[in-house]
Amino acid sequence: MFFTVLQTIYKDSIWLSDNYPFEEFYPLLRSYLSDELAVHSKYMSPYRFSYKYRKPVEQVIKFFLALTGDEGIFSLRFKFICENEGCINIFQEKDISDNMLYCKDCGEVYDFEKVNADNEISLLFVLNEDLKVELSKNIFFKKRSSYKTESFSNGDCSREELMLNEVTELLQKEPINDSLDKRLKRLAFKSNE
Ligand SMILES: [Zn+2]
Repeated sequence: MFFTVLQTIYKDSIWLSDNYPFEEFYPLLRSYLSDELAVHSKYMSPYRFSYKYRKPVEQVIKFFLALTGDEGIFSLRFKFICENEGCINIFQEKDISDNMLYCKDCGEVYDFEKVNADNEISLLFVLNEDLKVELSKNIFFKKRSSYKTESFSNGDCSREELMLNEVTELLQKEPINDSLDKRLKRLAFKSNE
């Protein structure tokens, strides 16, 4: 299924095939995701992929974005740290209503556009559930700590988050994924509608 899902995404995008040849990136992605699952990573990091396969970070970020969507490889989560100590919110797009964000821990209400303007919203990649189940088969699970010593010790490799604003800018400069592009724009500029 992983193969077919990726193939279907590639069929719809000449840009992907031109910049990320399937024969090269299919095995890289497959092995990257298996490694992350083996250490129980919750979020997939373009930074770690970049480090592992010596690919420029921006190129990998664009690749991950192109593979994001309901029928894609990844789904997005958003992260927001509330002003009250210790409240970390991970939410989905549907959790933002009328441009408002509610802290799930303390109930504090925030204006989404304002916190986004302050660069307080970051974005995380989650592997879609069906693929996670498929790729988890035949994996030899390891302790997260062993992976950490291998690659997390290299600066950016512990990084999993991207700023929502940076991503929106990136997509504005170069459209990568039509539906994601529209959704993020709508999200980032909600009150302008
Ligand atoms: Zn809170």
